[in-house]
Amino acid sequence: APRKLAAGNWKMNGDLASLTEIDQLCKAHPEPGCDMLICPPALLVYPMVASAQTHALMVGGQDCHAKESGAHTGDISAAQLRDAGADYVILGHSERRADHGETNADVAAKAAAAHQAGLIAIICVGETEAQRDAGETLSVIGDQIAGSLPERSDSANTVIAYEPVWAIGTGRTPTNEQIAEVHGFIRRQLDGRTGDAVNLRLLYGGSVKPVNAAEIFAIPNVDGALVGGASLKAADFGGIVAAL
Ligand code: 13P
Repeated sequence: APRKLAAGNWKMNGDLASLTEIDQLCKAHPEPGCDMLICPPALLVYPMVASAQTHALMVGGQDCHAKESGAHTGDISAAQLRDAGADYVILGHSERRADHGETNADVAAKAAAAHQAGLIAIICVGETEAQRDAGETLSVIGDQIAGSLPERSDSANTVIAYEPVWAIGTGRTPTNEQIAEVHGFIRRQLDGRTGDAVNLRLLYGGSVKPVNAAEIFAIPNVDGALVGGASLKAADFGGIVAAL
């Protein structure tokens, strides 16, 4: 089984003063039993890399443009994230799909750019509550997997995060059986696409907290978590890291 990954998504939260949380996290977990990643707002990538120096914390972006450079005001390229010291980039988060109209094809193009720049892409998929109620969960996720992964995606350059939209920031989580069903389904979808599907890390995301982390991590085919709110404080995220 692959080494597990605890990934934090700070979303549009945090400032330079928040880097004290990173110091605390690194000091509390000098040799974590899993890979440890924080994806702060882009402005904080470089200072976070600097403050995480010599520690076991990796840093990532939350989005990148599909092009390497050029006339794209306000955008950031994968190469620029890499240049700032990022190792990962989150792509196709449901908030970007909703707020910025990102399609599966957009996500695939961004992931190809990320791979080109040497970043590991964390590609997010997940159904809305209405889609789950309509019995469409697996078909929605199947389409997202088929459309959002570029050619040559493999366990070294890609991570997939299953984040049911209705579980994000709500305190509601799927049942263990529901998570197991979707993660097993994703693993089977990947089998046909990549030679090393068993090693490609599948993260669960949506209301992961220190209190439910151990139970979620014990579910088959769960190789870590993508954590929003509980990644902002060193004590909370550290509790999740410890559960891995
Ligand atoms: P919460 O952990 O705040 O529910 O957010 C999950 C998420 O969207 C991580 O990308």
